Amino acid sequence: MKYSAFSLLRNGFDRDSRWPSILPSVTPKDRYDIIIVGGGAHGLACAHYLARNHDITDVLVLDSAWIGGGNTGRNTAIVRSDYLLEASFKLKNFSLELWKSLSQDLNYNVMYSPRGYIDLAHSDGELEHFMCRANAMCLSGARAEILSPQQIESLEPSINLHTKSRFPVSGGLFQPDGGVVRHDAVAWGFARSAGRAGIDIVQNCGVSGFGVRNRRINWVQTVRGKIHCDKVLITAAGASSELARLAGFELPVEMINVQAFVSEPVKPVLDKVINYNAGLAYISQTGKGELVMGGATDGYPSFARRGSFARIEDTLVRALQIFPFLSNLRLMRHWSGTADIPMDGNAIVGKSPLENMYLNCGWGYAGFKATPAVGWTMAELLATDRLPDLLAPFALDRFKSGALIDDSGIGPYPWLH
Ligand SMILES: Cc1cc2nc3c(=O)[nH]c(=O)nc-3n(C[C@H](O)[C@H](O)[C@H](O)COP(=O)(O)OP(=O)(O)OC[C@H]3O[C@@H](n4cnc5c(N)ncnc54)[C@H](O)[C@@H]3O)c2cc1C
Repeated sequence: MKYSAFSLLRNGFDRDSRWPSILPSVTPKDRYDIIIVGGGAHGLACAHYLARNHDITDVLVLDSAWIGGGNTGRNTAIVRSDYLLEASFKLKNFSLELWKSLSQDLNYNVMYSPRGYIDLAHSDGELEHFMCRANAMCLSGARAEILSPQQIESLEPSINLHTKSRFPVSGGLFQPDGGVVRHDAVAWGFARSAGRAGIDIVQNCGVSGFGVRNRRINWVQTVRGKIHCDKVLITAAGASSELARLAGFELPVEMINVQAFVSEPVKPVLDKVINYNAGLAYISQTGKGELVMGGATDGYPSFARRGSFARIEDTLVRALQIFPFLSNLRLMRHWSGTADIPMDGNAIVGKSPLENMYLNCGWGYAGFKATPAVGWTMAELLATDRLPDLLAPFALDRFKSGALIDDSGIGPYPWLH
């Protein structure tokens, strides 16, 4: 199709739009080599890398709703790798490397904006801990700096650093390569690439059961009938525990509601992504000018995907302590997602108790940043049946062996990261 200067206008008024559809309409076949349950960014990234890195395209991606409509399209889009524990750091840092060239790889602008991420410290003890993280990151080849309050102020003049504030800032950990990526572009970029490679992506087609015999999945039950397969990947975030139950085993994850919200758009006022640790609030500004904010989880298990005024008030009261200018803004929208969280707050990725079923879940509200790395390594596992080194620590059996990966205190909240 040829585009002219007026094609946008013409298509806007055209009832039979001539824009080519990113996803071809597909009727699923009776059988595939691999079925990916969940068309979030993780599942779609895995599909992309199966085709790109392993030349495997007899793959079906199924989503019960629309692609990217789960936590992928509901997150606050922050990417970073400032973790202390080696397993967490390595996977997320590999992801950060992939984010840098993802737009070129997909030929689709995912708007990676490495504007820098600052974690604020509020005590000498916390700052010392940040120094450990910065040193560990630098020793592993990542860029990290410890900032004084004056340096933070010169980077972000709108921040309130007065010593009389509720939680005075004693410094910060700065990751210059951290930032944000446009989350829905990520879903659509991966989907377009996988679709063009010949992978089938079917929306509004939920999985409601599995045909299991001799610890193997033979078929998945969908609203469009049974579909046979050699391998299945469950990557359905807030629905992972339910899908595991349907396959006959339990996952050690809890589902918790997490909320986020945006203000009306204003001129550029905040350059970096700021995490106000003591206040349980984090904030960044979108290209459109909206201030995006998030806070603590609802604090109790729930599948309900809904917001609450209590959480908005709570987060905003704290955000105002550090950014008083927010008091002049109105909130425009707010939403929530269902985060799946294991007891150590880290993801479960790898093989399941069934022979040909694989898992990618437990990312809580920290999994977006890992998207390309998870896609890459899961594709390798599905293609070769060998667990990549980067994934080995995240295996389900760590809950039996006790080799937990507990990054507590490293993220914004003591039990979430
Ligand atoms: C408010 C909020 C803020 C967040 N902020 C950040 C952040 O700033 N940075 C960060 O790194 N992470 C963040 N996260 C976490 C991040 O969004 C998730 O970890 C990540 O998006 C998980 O991706 P996914 O593809 O695994 O899951 P999802 O995007 O949720 O995709 C799962 C898909 O599975 C589908 N599905 C469910 N059940 C079925 C079924 N039975 N059959 C077929 N399909 C099914 C769903 O429709 C969904 O599309 C945040 C999360 C929330 C909720």
